[in-house]
Amino acid sequence: MKHVVVIGGGVVGISCALSLLDDGHDVTVLDPGAVGEGASWASCGCIAVGEVVPLSQPGMLTKVPGWLIDPDSPLSLRPSSALKLLPWFARFTANSRPSKMREIAVDLAKLNFAATDDFKAQMVKYGVQDMLIERPVLKLFEDDRDKATMGAAFDLAREMGCTIDEISGAEAHEIEPAIAPDFQHAAVLRDWSFVADPRRLVIALHRAFDQRGGKVVVTAGTGFTRENQRLTGVTCADGQTISADEVVLAAGTHSKALASQLEIALQLEGVLGYSTGLSDPGVDLKHTVFYPSGGFGITPYENELAVAGTIEFAGLTADPRWRRADVLVKRAHRVLPGLQDKKASRRMGRRPFTPDTRPILGRSAKMPNLTFATGHGQLGLTLGATTGGIVADLIAGRSPQIDIAAFSPDRF
Ligand SMILES: Cc1cc2nc3c(=O)[nH]c(=O)nc-3n(C[C@H](O)[C@H](O)[C@H](O)COP(=O)(O)OP(=O)(O)OC[C@H]3O[C@@H](n4cnc5c(N)ncnc54)[C@H](O)[C@@H]3O)c2cc1C
Repeated sequence: MKHVVVIGGGVVGISCALSLLDDGHDVTVLDPGAVGEGASWASCGCIAVGEVVPLSQPGMLTKVPGWLIDPDSPLSLRPSSALKLLPWFARFTANSRPSKMREIAVDLAKLNFAATDDFKAQMVKYGVQDMLIERPVLKLFEDDRDKATMGAAFDLAREMGCTIDEISGAEAHEIEPAIAPDFQHAAVLRDWSFVADPRRLVIALHRAFDQRGGKVVVTAGTGFTRENQRLTGVTCADGQTISADEVVLAAGTHSKALASQLEIALQLEGVLGYSTGLSDPGVDLKHTVFYPSGGFGITPYENELAVAGTIEFAGLTADPRWRRADVLVKRAHRVLPGLQDKKASRRMGRRPFTPDTRPILGRSAKMPNLTFATGHGQLGLTLGATTGGIVADLIAGRSPQIDIAAFSPDRF
């Protein structure tokens, strides 16, 4: 049995902690924040198995001037962060070549196709299976041109084995009468599902961890103690040092600063997204509905309707621009004409993104008893359980069933 310190108690960190506890380790989670209020709280809540196409796509570079000028566009680059983001962005755009995209999609598919079974097993084990809503996701398109923007991504996803049925807008309206009847096209993404409430899910996982003897310390990890090439402990904001045989770094976007203390340079940036929870939406929706040209999805959580999305390249520390959340809600009326948006609460999440959209998963040759579990981008909720299993395998000395070479922290 080892003492493992997990830095970060978001959906990824707590999933790692639970898998490690199952293996009989003594596990301590460090997190200074309120449980469940990390990036996953601002998410669309999808177990996005079919999301295998990387974020970097051809033609993005030509769109950058537009993103800089229009702060309300679904994709935007914050001018004040642009210079700082340049090295990351250069690598990001280099990953948009079709051959590179296919390579990345193959790697992501390996993880994603394990996700539903791993996620279900996790939920059953911890008694929260009621939270998985196994309904496909709908995507809506205005017209032929709008649908064509997704054509290459759909082709690549299908090539990877994803099931996407193309239907008419009228058929989508039949499935979901709350949707406006005049979209010309829609798609049913059969591999996806969603959770009833991502915040409640993370809280439930923390409760299971606590009930099984795990320890949570409400403080930030600030650094490491080490002897030669091994970590011996984690220093904390409250002044204590917690000794460790193994450390798991799962602090979302904050992982970059912690890794840099060990001279490990992670290519990790925060890609901001916004979510507005409408507690009295006045419409009845059963599926998550995405409107790609508006840059958002709408998910019917158990106690609210969440309008969430947009991609804002703004870096690790930028403050939210709440106007972007408000714009999404305005655009959501196009999808749901009966929507009422009076009772609204807003949140922002920083998706921890690598330039190749692959998570950072595995050990670094530079520090053999440090395991990375971060950089999940738009897939942290989807891949939490799968990541937990892989991290537990690595720390137990077992070979993970999925080849994780492509996710190595040393690839940068
Ligand atoms: C708008 C939006 C929509 C999204 N939709 C989806 C979706 O549909 N499906 C999906 O799978 N994903 C989605 N995502 C992405 C998903 O939310 C993230 O990938 C996921 O939350 C990342 O989880 P995490 O545990 O790595 O990070 P976080 O959830 O951010 O957790 C990191 C934790 O580390 C803690 N921490 C930070 N610094 C320290 C420190 N120094 N010491 C200790 N702890 C620290 C923080 O307090 C936090 O609790 C979406 C994100 C956004 C913003």
